[in-house]
Amino acid sequence: MSAEEQLNKAKNALQNALKQENTKTCLDILDSLIKIKVNGELLKKTDIGKTIGKLRTHQDMKLSIKAKTIVKKWKDDVVRQTDKPAPTSIRIESPTIKKISPVSSQASSPKTPVMEGPPRTVKTDEVSFKSTGNVPRNKTIELMYAAVGFGSGADADLLLKRAISIEKTIYFEFGDINQDYKNKVRSLALNLKNKSNPGLRESVVSGELSVEKLCKMSVDAMASEEAQARDRKLAEEALFKARGAGSAQAETDMFKCGKCGGRKCTYFQMQTRSADEPMTTFVTCVICSNHWKFC
Ligand SMILES: [Zn+2]
Repeated sequence: MSAEEQLNKAKNALQNALKQENTKTCLDILDSLIKIKVNGELLKKTDIGKTIGKLRTHQDMKLSIKAKTIVKKWKDDVVRQTDKPAPTSIRIESPTIKKISPVSSQASSPKTPVMEGPPRTVKTDEVSFKSTGNVPRNKTIELMYAAVGFGSGADADLLLKRAISIEKTIYFEFGDINQDYKNKVRSLALNLKNKSNPGLRESVVSGELSVEKLCKMSVDAMASEEAQARDRKLAEEALFKARGAGSAQAETDMFKCGKCGGRKCTYFQMQTRSADEPMTTFVTCVICSNHWKFC
C-alpha cells in the first residue's frame, strides 16, 4: 500500500471511529499514523491534517496529546524538505509552519563573522525542558543554553543536555539559590559566552571537558582549556576534510543541524582520546556543511 492509500484508509477509519466515539480505536489509528513519513503533497492530497488537527482539542487527553504529537512530527517532516517550500494549503490548522531561516541570510552579511550565527536560545531553537519546579533554576538553564550555544552549530538536544547538567551541578554544589549560586552562574555564563573562548564552549558541548570539571575551574584553568581546545580543533579540521572527501557515509536523521535546522547529516566515530574513553562522534550537515562533535 502506498503512503497515500495508507493515509486515506486511516483517515476514513478515524472518522468512523470518532463517530462511534471509539477512543481506543482512534488511539490505535494514531499510533499507526505516527510511523508514516509525510510530505506537503501527501498532506494536501489526503487532507488528513484537518482531521488530526481537530483532534488536538479532543476532550480525551490521551487522544489530544497524540494528535498534537503527530501534527508536530508531520510539520517537522514537511520542514525537513528544505529544498521545497511547504505548500500553503496544508490544512493543519495553526498556519505557522516553521520556516528555516537559511544560513545565507546571515552569511551574506559582511558584518557577521562566518562562525557566528544568530544567538541561540531555548526560544529560537524551540526546545523545551522539564521544569525544575523553581523559576530561578529554570532561568539558569536558559542562560546556560544561550551560553554554550553561542556561535555553536550543535544539535539543540546536546546543548540542552549540557545546560541542564551545568545548572544541576551548581545547584548541588551550593544546595540552594543563594548568593554563591548566583555568583557562580554569572561567572560561568560570562566566561562561556566570552568571544575569545570559543574552544571552551566547544569542549563543554562536545563533552571533552566534563561539566563537573568546568564548574570547578578557575578563570586561569578556563584559559588553558581554551588553548588546548584550539590545538585540537586544528587537527580535527584536517580530519573532517580528509573524511569528507573520502568514503561515502550513510545519511541519518538522528541529528538536527543547529545552523540550518536540517536533519540530513552524516557522521563517523573515532577514538580521539585515550582508549578507555568513549569514542568521539563527528557529525556533518549535508545541507550546510556545518559540523560538530560530541563524546
Ligand atoms: Zn545544516
